[in-house]
Amino acid sequence: MYAGPSRQADHFMKLFPLFADLQGRRVLVVGGGEVAARKVQVLLEASADVQVGAPELVPELAELADQGRIRVFKGEFQPAWLDEAWLVVAATDDRSVNAAVSEAAEARRIFSNVVDDAELSSFQVPSIVDRSPLIVAISSSGVAPVLARRLRERIESLFDHSLGSLAALAARHRPRIRERRPDLKQRRRFYDWLLDGPVASLLRQQQPAEAERVLKAELDSPQPASQGSVVLVGAGPGDPGLLTLKALRALNEADVILYDRLVSPAVLALARRDADRVSVGKLLGEDHNATQSRIHALLVKHAQAGRRVVRLKGGDAFIFGRGGEELEYLRAHHIRYEVVPGITAALACAAYAGIPLTHRDHAQSVRLVTAHCREDEDTLDWAGLAREHQTLAFYMGVGQLETLSTRLISHGRSAATPFALIENGSRPEQRVITGRLDELAAVARSHNVRAPALLVIGEVAGLARQLHWFGRYEEGQREALAA
Ligand code: SAH
Repeated sequence: MYAGPSRQADHFMKLFPLFADLQGRRVLVVGGGEVAARKVQVLLEASADVQVGAPELVPELAELADQGRIRVFKGEFQPAWLDEAWLVVAATDDRSVNAAVSEAAEARRIFSNVVDDAELSSFQVPSIVDRSPLIVAISSSGVAPVLARRLRERIESLFDHSLGSLAALAARHRPRIRERRPDLKQRRRFYDWLLDGPVASLLRQQQPAEAERVLKAELDSPQPASQGSVVLVGAGPGDPGLLTLKALRALNEADVILYDRLVSPAVLALARRDADRVSVGKLLGEDHNATQSRIHALLVKHAQAGRRVVRLKGGDAFIFGRGGEELEYLRAHHIRYEVVPGITAALACAAYAGIPLTHRDHAQSVRLVTAHCREDEDTLDWAGLAREHQTLAFYMGVGQLETLSTRLISHGRSAATPFALIENGSRPEQRVITGRLDELAAVARSHNVRAPALLVIGEVAGLARQLHWFGRYEEGQREALAA
């Protein structure tokens, strides 16, 4: 074999990647079973002129033949079947037939693929990530299919499905883009804007007509706009595995990230390396409203400077996260935004503690509650909260547990109702402590429970004792544990 200049002992390109235009070209598939049917399907998607050769066809293939979508050679393989073909795929379960196909193809210089048999194949079909017209193809040259599959999953997760429409839209307007941005540098800047700006975000929001309008308006405007945008992202409770794909993508694309104290470092670590990370938690001596105004001002400042801002909040931004206020402020300042939901603490803590929040026998509803137990701020419906057969998930500091349990009991909830405190839910340090409602404050004290912690009250909380599976579990003790 010719060993060209790039061939080194341990590195050479065993397969040359290429994308073939099969439109209207004859492709022969030998075999009439399920595997052949799968291959035929893909070839038809590429508009190939598919010919199937086999003694028998599975119903799926027979139907395609009836519809005239494929041609058929009936019978045992004959080399003459290859006469008109550009490519051949052998998908029979008989290796000697596959080998005959491969050999006949080789003699006629037709590329052949034998399914799952790299040795007999002169071309292979890669794993693909399809965002047509964009296609990513992956191959391990047949040596590490599991690795190739992993890689495909990773790449699949990185790109929103709207990317294909974006590429198609750009292609449609290409002549106009050339005309309006004749200078190469300008044109590059325009494409960056197209990929990162409002057009991409409108396509993600399923608004193709508006996306096209914005693209045209930008092309026609003499002064290129540099409007930024904000994505309000729920970062989940801490475990980075609980991020959504959309959250991950937003983190990958951010120029600046404004994050809260509750956001875990493991999540932040996933963001684009050169994004600015700005902690916007409460400053010493600052009240909540002052913090919030400071955040509003920062959001607007960065977006108006044309940057892609990610506003990253613990859990979900709309559950005790003041996300609503931030959107109102952005709206008032005409700044584009998107919202990506996150897994809120109640869902994550319950799941990671083995507590089903609803249960046929124990709880038909669940309430997410935040409690200010100070008299002057207390507007909660305690009688309603005290009713049986519902689960309560309290988002709050751990300083008010005494008042909380006393109020629930005095409004009628049984003193023996189980509770579970979940500290650092979903994080490596997670701890779950269970007990009964009338011992809540004493147990929290003796186990030295610290924020962030979520409190679950209701019959289901007791199930953590048997069903817990993550982190540490402690049976509640009232008295300080011996050191
Ligand atoms: N927006 C957030 C909640 C913010 S309020 C969400 O959707 O989860 C803050 C409260 O959430 C904390 O006081 C605590 O009760 C709860 N919390 C947030 N993250 C937590 C975690 N990892 N473990 C336990 N509780 C958590």
